[in-house]
Amino acid sequence: MAVQTVTSTTESAGSAERSGSAAPSVDLGPAAALSCRECGHRVPLGPVFACEECFGPLEIAYDFSAYDTEELRRRIEAGPANIWRYAPLLPVPADVATKPNINPGWTKLVQADNLARELGVTGGLYVKDDSGNPTHSFKDRVVAQALEAARAFGFTTLSCSSTGNLAGAVGAAAARAGLRSCVFIPHDLEQGKVVMAAVYGGELVGIEGNYDDVNRFCSELIGDPAGEGWGFVNVNLRPYYAEGSKTLAYEICEQLGWRLPDQIVVPIASGSQLTKIDKGLRELIELGLVEDRPYKIFGAQAEGCSPVSTAYKAGHDVVRPQKPKTIAKSLAIGNPADGPYVLDIARRTGGAVEDVTDEQVVEAIRLLARIEGIFAETAGGVTVGVTKKLIENGDLDPSLTTVVLNTGDGLKTLDAVADTGLTATIRPNLDSFREAGLSS
Ligand SMILES: *Cc1c(COP(=O)(O)O)cnc(C)c1O
Ligand SMILES: [Zn+2]
Repeated sequence: MAVQTVTSTTESAGSAERSGSAAPSVDLGPAAALSCRECGHRVPLGPVFACEECFGPLEIAYDFSAYDTEELRRRIEAGPANIWRYAPLLPVPADVATKPNINPGWTKLVQADNLARELGVTGGLYVKDDSGNPTHSFKDRVVAQALEAARAFGFTTLSCSSTGNLAGAVGAAAARAGLRSCVFIPHDLEQGKVVMAAVYGGELVGIEGNYDDVNRFCSELIGDPAGEGWGFVNVNLRPYYAEGSKTLAYEICEQLGWRLPDQIVVPIASGSQLTKIDKGLRELIELGLVEDRPYKIFGAQAEGCSPVSTAYKAGHDVVRPQKPKTIAKSLAIGNPADGPYVLDIARRTGGAVEDVTDEQVVEAIRLLARIEGIFAETAGGVTVGVTKKLIENGDLDPSLTTVVLNTGDGLKTLDAVADTGLTATIRPNLDSFREAGLSS
């Protein structure tokens, strides 16, 4: 494996497990070790993603014991207006804020009073609008983390399997950092996503197949000499990548005045974002940065790719893969890696997982644009549509503070609303204007 030792190890909770092992170690702030989500087995920080004992997924374990709550709050509030204000809670090197990175985050939390009125929400409704990130989707948050891990482990090529947004985020991050990028997407994505991924000058490869085929191919490439020195942000760097989603939880709470929302509606592709939003909220409670009270997490899918909501409604613990067929291509993962964890979280917090049809996705995109001035991509149509449905079903309590995520920009999925256009075409004179019935 192409791994380099960058700095000597920190004195952290992981060091006991490290001794006796020849594995190289890196200093990634409060990140102490990788821990298996299934069996708890710990290994040193490195570019590994599966447990050697049980093949379960690895995630970052931290040692936050040195933090004083008020001191930490002051440090965060004095930090930059991007995700690095939360560097003390992320697996990144100490000098992260000074290195070239795309520096995403600190996107708007829009108080959506018009949408609240439309949906009958009285407890406060907010849209966390992640279309404001550098490449116009939430994926910049996770890629920014993976980039730092790639640097720490000495990878020279940044790669990924992508449903579209991730390819653009990787291309931009690699460009900024001066690394090579070579990314893989299904060959039939929206033009907006293809152009957005290609424009940063990296290599962009279309694969004849769906996302699950692309992902399987990337797993093969990692195990082959052809992939030597490649950091796949969502495969061998996945534990680091995934932590970027925690910043959505941190920002929402800080922007609400260090308060937990009562309910959050989150889109599901692989399910990683949803599970890390939950992790982020639990960390804020543990650290004393927010009051410890219940919150509910709701998952949102498109009916044409709804393996998790199908399992949720059937009361199953396992997720049966589906073949995706939906306009919500950024969420079109038929075999979601974090599906079972999403089911756990929805059930544990008292949330739910729901899905909407493509027609409802389009309706929701139009609604959000028309009454809030926010143009969401199809994934945002999914969350807004699901929110409406959850309220109608009685699953989501309209008297509670609710945050709905919009994770991408409508400009990337113009096809979804392509039948929208000119109200009229007129000659450049007043008679023509009056004839068109546009006078006040
Ligand atoms: C990738 C993506 C998500 C969520 O992805 P997960 O794999 O569930 O973390 C949500 N919205 C958009 C627009 C995305 O591109
Ligand atoms: Zn394990």
